[in-house]
Amino acid sequence: MGWTGLKTHMAQWLPPPLCLLCDGVATHAHAHACDDCWALLQRLRTGSDVCPLCAKPSLQAAVCGECQRHPPHFERLWASYRLAWPLHSVIAAYKYQQQWAHARALSAWMAAAPPPWLSAVAIDEVVAMPLSRVRLLERGYNQAAALVQGLQAQSSLICSYSNSVFIERQHRPPQSTLKHDERMRNIRGVFALKTDVNKRNLLLIDDVVTTSATLNELARTLKTAGAASVSCWVLARA
Ligand SMILES: [Zn+2]
Ligand SMILES: [Zn+2]
Repeated sequence: MGWTGLKTHMAQWLPPPLCLLCDGVATHAHAHACDDCWALLQRLRTGSDVCPLCAKPSLQAAVCGECQRHPPHFERLWASYRLAWPLHSVIAAYKYQQQWAHARALSAWMAAAPPPWLSAVAIDEVVAMPLSRVRLLERGYNQAAALVQGLQAQSSLICSYSNSVFIERQHRPPQSTLKHDERMRNIRGVFALKTDVNKRNLLLIDDVVTTSATLNELARTLKTAGAASVSCWVLARA
């Protein structure tokens, strides 16, 4: 039996890959979804009608009023999906129920909806949103870093960028438990850069963006340290 024959022979003894969203059989094996769920997911994809700075809906991709009043410290932000059913339940399991293996599917879903500017923008380094040491011990993994690993392993989109920036993050109450103005105060000064980023073009990766206060504070820290540009790519926009 040749290699192809052996693989076919072995495949019939393996359970079929399951859809992450409904436990049915995954037809899009690379993306861990069945046809129906894949179609649902595609409906959550953000399109060309979002603000380039916050990824909220905006006609003809104009910079929205909020971003005009308070321009963020980063150059651009892209969210691959809207955070809604059924995606949010997978992300919740990924972050809060130790389902770290979901990183593979979630990064494949990100790669299926990349930022439209990715090939046109100069990028030297990819940076995963850091966790505090306390949160890292609690969770056991950094969910943003696992998305970066998944993206670099499974797609060619960001694999040429280096991944060597080290940033410490102080432990503070989770942003999700706070009101909008409390989030701004809570996050201020939380990051300490341990790597030289002078004149570097950076791509920040995170799982979910809500108010973008955290991404904005990290971008502020990086820009203060001399970073040439900061672009952000998140899996989903709340
Ligand atoms: Zn399904
Ligand atoms: Zn905006």
